[in-house]
Amino acid sequence: MAETKQFKAESKRLLDMMINSIYTHKEIFLREIISNASDAMDKLYFKSLTDDKVGMNRSDFFIKIEADKDARTLIVRDNGIGMTKDELENNLGTIANSGSFSFKNDEANTAEDVDIIGQFGVGFYSAFMVAKEVEVRTKAYGSEQAYLWKSSGVDGYTIEECEKNDGVGTEVRLILKDDTDDECYDEFLMQWKIKNLVKKYSDYIHYPIKFDMEHDHLKEGTGVDDVPPEYETTIEEETLNSMTPLWRKNKNEITDEEYNKFYKEKFFDYRDPMKYIHVKTEGTATYDGLLFIPSQPPMDYYTKNYEKGLQLYSSGVLIMDKCADLLPDHFSFVKGLVDSQDLSLNISREMLQHDRQLKLIAKSLEKTIKNELKKMLNNEREKYEEFWKSFGMQIKFGVYNGYGVNKDLLKDILMFYSSNDKKLCTLDEYVSRMKEDQKYIYYAAGETVDKVDNLPQTEVVKDKGYEILYLTESVDEFAVKVLESYNDKQFKSISDADLDLETPEEKEEFKKLSDESKDMLEEISKSLGGKIKSAKLSERLKSHPVCLTSEGQISIEMEKTFAQMPTDQNVKAEKVLEINPNHAIFEVLKELYASDKDKLAAYSKILYNEALLIEGMTIENPVEFSNLVCSLMVDKK
Ligand code: ADP
Repeated sequence: MAETKQFKAESKRLLDMMINSIYTHKEIFLREIISNASDAMDKLYFKSLTDDKVGMNRSDFFIKIEADKDARTLIVRDNGIGMTKDELENNLGTIANSGSFSFKNDEANTAEDVDIIGQFGVGFYSAFMVAKEVEVRTKAYGSEQAYLWKSSGVDGYTIEECEKNDGVGTEVRLILKDDTDDECYDEFLMQWKIKNLVKKYSDYIHYPIKFDMEHDHLKEGTGVDDVPPEYETTIEEETLNSMTPLWRKNKNEITDEEYNKFYKEKFFDYRDPMKYIHVKTEGTATYDGLLFIPSQPPMDYYTKNYEKGLQLYSSGVLIMDKCADLLPDHFSFVKGLVDSQDLSLNISREMLQHDRQLKLIAKSLEKTIKNELKKMLNNEREKYEEFWKSFGMQIKFGVYNGYGVNKDLLKDILMFYSSNDKKLCTLDEYVSRMKEDQKYIYYAAGETVDKVDNLPQTEVVKDKGYEILYLTESVDEFAVKVLESYNDKQFKSISDADLDLETPEEKEEFKKLSDESKDMLEEISKSLGGKIKSAKLSERLKSHPVCLTSEGQISIEMEKTFAQMPTDQNVKAEKVLEINPNHAIFEVLKELYASDKDKLAAYSKILYNEALLIEGMTIENPVEFSNLVCSLMVDKK
């Protein structure tokens, strides 16, 4: 009987954590064992390149999985480099060098531990999540003697000499835990499950992973005419993994259909992607990337539940399913994966966040995505507009977020509707169409393109022949405010206090008229009891009687947006009631100011409420408003 040895302290804690794991995706143990086998074969293969004595070709290497339902054992065999007795001792007795593991907590099984298991796996010991006993038979390259390492976890391990007649390599045998009410370990013996797990986690391991698949057939000559059906089982060895990842292939070897199929299977979409981007880079950031822009946003895209991220592979092995750090928020709609040989398989999440290589890759991806979008905008306009309708809002949020740190990256792929045929246009297009005397990029905000188009304030700007951007999403105005200008042209709201459209003479005349009407305007403002900051004569109205504008940073549209937020902080615009001095109502108001102040107050209320309605806001007292209007109608009769 071999002497029982204790695990090193750190290893023991990791092991305890595995044995008692509450982690729900225990299935990753298979990925870990397969990756180890693949590494061991890499080592022997590299040796064979310089050492003829190895006598093996690349195609000689393979992994074999065997499941024995009766004995409840799962075996993973490889013909890699194997381990000497010392290596067994050092590698499996002391697993503190398992890259990721720095013990911060004294308590095992915290949520954080579970997280680490999930994202990165923890190597060989993860076998103890599913096995009550693990045996490793191994014969090292260059050695005649094979050794058996055995452990049932807590009690330590033994190492003894053993027979191994199939040559150099390693065989890991797991005796699975007994099923409990909550956990079914038997599942890992089912061929469909094994196949699924290999496909899911190890599809791109570049050695074949073989398995004896059982197939049930109708026995020949049975099941026809009067012969009762009889079945027989045949066994066929299958390679479960596809070995060469799609993204590693040359672009010209891959058809559109293959890209689309890959996307749909991997990212669970039934529609083809709008665009795929296949990147292969070498240099500061060496990686292969396969990115997809979905044709429609996922159902939960604009909710808190949506998780951005790309799959992260290290040399073909999946190490993280959704690596958020690879995608900036403004491109969070991108699906796909990155494969880099520069990342270690067992890197932990915290380390990953600070990984220089990962940062370089993320930067490079951001640039690539931006360039592809720009290309689509230039060359596939219709497609880009489709894209914009799905994901434009996210990009506009990107402009606004972080006080505009990303605005320079994003500003030339923005689109807004405009008064020019009510179509989408870019800021470049707008600026190139600006009139010679036009100083500003004008915009107007409202609920829909048609509603904005009908705003009284737009009339005078349109009359000048100036185009107006129609901002219809709540984020738009915030984004425009952060942008401030484009190509040195400042943005200006058509509701802005000073539109700067008149000649000096017109300005002079307007000032005179305003001064003359000052008292009346103050009376109107007073009668509205603080609902507006002031009433003034309008320079922007042509045929309409009134409109509402605002002073200060908060526009009327922004007030509406704030009001819809769950944490309504009662942010209000400083409203200005503008009255058109060229409208017949102006003369009526003047008369009333001289003769009947009560009626002037009633008229003011009606005009104010009209202006609110035009802006698409609710009026505070609809009953009072309709009574007022009715009383006027009766008066008239
Ligand atoms: P890691 O793979 O991150 O080093 P593991 O816990 O998975 O950590 O494995 C510990 C070590 O055991 C490996 O580094 C390797 O040296 C050795 N090992 C594990 N499995 C095999 C195998 N199938 N063949 C040869 N060596 C192995």
